[in-house]
Amino acid sequence: MAKEQTHSQFQFWHKIGRRDLLLGLTALVTVQMSRSRFVQAASPKHLFTLGVASGDPLPDGFVLWTRLAPAPLQGGGMPQKAVPVQWQVATDAAMRQVIRRGTAMATPQFAHSVHVEVTGLEPNRWYWYQFRVGSELSQIGRTRTAPVLNSPVDRLRFAFASCQNYEHGYYTAYRDMAKQDLDFVVHLGDYIYEGGATPGRPRQHNGSECISLEQYRDRYALYKTDLDLQAAHAAFAWIVTWDDHEVANNYANLTTQNPRDQATFAQRRANAYQAYYEHMPLRRSSSPQGADLQLYRRFYFGNLAALHVLDTRQYRSDQPCGDGVKPRCTEAFASEATLMGHTQERWLFDGLSRSSAQWNVLAQQVVMAQFKVSLKGNEVFNLDQWDGYVAARHRLFQFLSDRKPANPIVISGDVHASWVYDLKVDFDDPNSEPIATEFAGTSISSNFAEANIPLVEASLPNNPHTHFFNGAFRGYVICNLTPQQWRSDFRAVSTVQTPNGTVSTLASFVVEAGKAGARQV
Ligand code: FE
Ligand code: CA
Repeated sequence: MAKEQTHSQFQFWHKIGRRDLLLGLTALVTVQMSRSRFVQAASPKHLFTLGVASGDPLPDGFVLWTRLAPAPLQGGGMPQKAVPVQWQVATDAAMRQVIRRGTAMATPQFAHSVHVEVTGLEPNRWYWYQFRVGSELSQIGRTRTAPVLNSPVDRLRFAFASCQNYEHGYYTAYRDMAKQDLDFVVHLGDYIYEGGATPGRPRQHNGSECISLEQYRDRYALYKTDLDLQAAHAAFAWIVTWDDHEVANNYANLTTQNPRDQATFAQRRANAYQAYYEHMPLRRSSSPQGADLQLYRRFYFGNLAALHVLDTRQYRSDQPCGDGVKPRCTEAFASEATLMGHTQERWLFDGLSRSSAQWNVLAQQVVMAQFKVSLKGNEVFNLDQWDGYVAARHRLFQFLSDRKPANPIVISGDVHASWVYDLKVDFDDPNSEPIATEFAGTSISSNFAEANIPLVEASLPNNPHTHFFNGAFRGYVICNLTPQQWRSDFRAVSTVQTPNGTVSTLASFVVEAGKAGARQV
């Protein structure tokens, strides 16, 4: 069966024009010539070692991604020259009905990644895609366009995930996700972790802490060699945003956690942002500009959902009270402290004001709800989260309360545990009505310190807006939307210590349209 499929793929590639075919042959020759000079260990027959991906779905198209990397963990192994990559899009899984094709250049400047922005397609339907260089074909990926803006949509189903420390375990959650019936996937950050190899863990990072562009590239390559992750990318369009570990732990804009590294941090951030772009299915509008990269953006799924994708790292002010779990200092309440930056905040408020979607999803990084923990007689908060930026959170909540955009739902990552919260203008007032609902998903693989579980559980009575906490399991969240109801299913992996964990639903919560606040079902 597999053989037959390959044969038919070849047949269809042969229908590509003669000029394209010649380009492909030139590429093959280029790659073969490169073997002696650039590629030592790896065979040049394996260019697509990092899989394929698609992302940023619009009603008429999406981005297709791949990266040529015959030696993925040694800088990629490609020659220092541009290589043409042919791509094609079909309406069937066997790639028989090809409706778009073209050639993209994989250049050394972007680590021989390609980002193809396909347009002119039909809304709200599946497509399949494949790349080719010379005689080598990539695996076939599947992706889906968004419904037409404001068109009636009666059902939408997506998954969100975050925090996939490779060293901490296996990506069994992605194996499960790839089998689900989903329209798209949202990644909320910590796609890689920047730290060096630590012995004694289920898997090992390659090399030392990432600082240079080459180190970040090799780290993305390590993560992307994981076949479960590749399967989830190949199955759905992804909409990605980042958190801190794509660069460095708890960084804030151009300030790093360790003052010793401050002088070189702008260059490090530029390296990290470029490697992020090179490995994600992002549009050119999100290509790196020096140490900056435009990542906040918005997607619409008919009249059912608007997805406001936020970036709470690149523009935030340095944590006003530092970034530990500590009592708040008075600066946490300062109005100039910002998580989004003022431009993004205005962009968000503007987009929420103009959205006519039934559900307004804020896809973002760190937990938005207040959570106070009693520790040795003190009230402490996680000050890297919105809890460290109280005035900025209050501005957002006051906006939601005054302007009432339809059904705001916040989805969050970062905390490596599963949470459900009602969001309130005043968390300390039991009579304050919920204005939105937050679902924080657990990590794909990153550890949650088990010693903290009893501490959190003991604090739950002091945080009655918290409906659910579970720190024991890794996994992800499936969201099922209809005009009447939002439902979040927390998928949990039995173990990530071995590759053979099993996945089940840990808990499910619903939000009824028109009434903020979650209820377990
Ligand atoms: Fe994380
Ligand atoms: Ca994080």
